[in-house]
Amino acid sequence: MKHIMLLLLAVLTLACTASEPQKAEAKKPTNIVFLIGDGMGLSAVSTGFYFGDQPSVFNRFNEIGLQQTSSATHKVTDSAASGTALATGTKTYNGAIGIDTSKVAHQSIAELVASLGWSTGVVATSTISHATPASFYAHVELRAMEEEIAVQLLNSEIDFFAGGGRAKFNKRADSTNLLPLAAEKGFIIDTSALAAPGTLSADQKYGFLLQAGAMPSMIHGRGNFLPDATTLAISYLSQNQEGFFLMVEGSQIDWAGHSNNSEYLVSEMLDFEKVIAAALDFAEKDGNTLVVVTADHETGGFTLGPLTGETNEAGYSDYSDISPVFATGQHSATLIPVFAYGPGAEKFKGIYQNTAIHNKMAELAKGE
Ligand code: MG
Ligand code: ZN
Repeated sequence: MKHIMLLLLAVLTLACTASEPQKAEAKKPTNIVFLIGDGMGLSAVSTGFYFGDQPSVFNRFNEIGLQQTSSATHKVTDSAASGTALATGTKTYNGAIGIDTSKVAHQSIAELVASLGWSTGVVATSTISHATPASFYAHVELRAMEEEIAVQLLNSEIDFFAGGGRAKFNKRADSTNLLPLAAEKGFIIDTSALAAPGTLSADQKYGFLLQAGAMPSMIHGRGNFLPDATTLAISYLSQNQEGFFLMVEGSQIDWAGHSNNSEYLVSEMLDFEKVIAAALDFAEKDGNTLVVVTADHETGGFTLGPLTGETNEAGYSDYSDISPVFATGQHSATLIPVFAYGPGAEKFKGIYQNTAIHNKMAELAKGE
């Protein structure tokens, strides 16, 4: 009996010492880049494999999971409820920004890491006060309250923002001009163009409001705005040695899905792939940056169907090429892929609720 106890003790001691080096090796990210393709389902992710001129950037990920996007009130979510779930870890009603079904505000991942001394940024091709970016810094009852959301952005912990939506600041229904308030809050606002990477001071905050409304689509000449804004944000935010959190949204993948326009969708996806590449390139060099790519929900019931037309004797249509099709002009409830790279990426394997993505990022940021 005594021998067995001693043996057991020896085994336990060994087990403990063996697990200790692993614990020390488990790295926590000091930076998190969170990339959201609004409305980007698996078929949207697949477009680069068929319509891109180079290998899809998604080939660079090894840690992949699936998330369920339903809101607290609806099986099919909107971007406000799913943005709130991703940003705060709380399921809420469709239309809510940063609050739960009882209208209680919940801390977002951006607010959490700001309390740890990290710098934070949001970038989008919609208005910067639109539902997805708003979920990271605002707390309002309805996504349509964009003028109030703009006020909350200037009062938030966000250090850098870039996108459209200038009119929400200076052409408002309430006739107030928020641009002087922005200056008071320490923001340098540029309404004409992005700055060059390396030219922004760590002692200032920056806002780039480059359109009155949304940014143009890729089809209508947006050019390299989103990858450039991502590179600029990373170069500015990474001056903070404590760490940084950056959310970049490919906002218009969703709008392409709503309009059932596959050319629009593919062009927005190929642009979003450049954003992902920029984030991964930085993360590879840096070694302490976690990159997470996902969507808030799928839009359009988009799929890569075969060419339509006559079927052969066996009943098949022409499988030699793809003719993308849409099942709906609305959102869908299909599970959404999650891609992760960098320290903590393995945590994103498995199938889970959208709220778990916030929880995993928060645990990693806190070193738990
Ligand atoms: Mg959005
Ligand atoms: Zn939508």
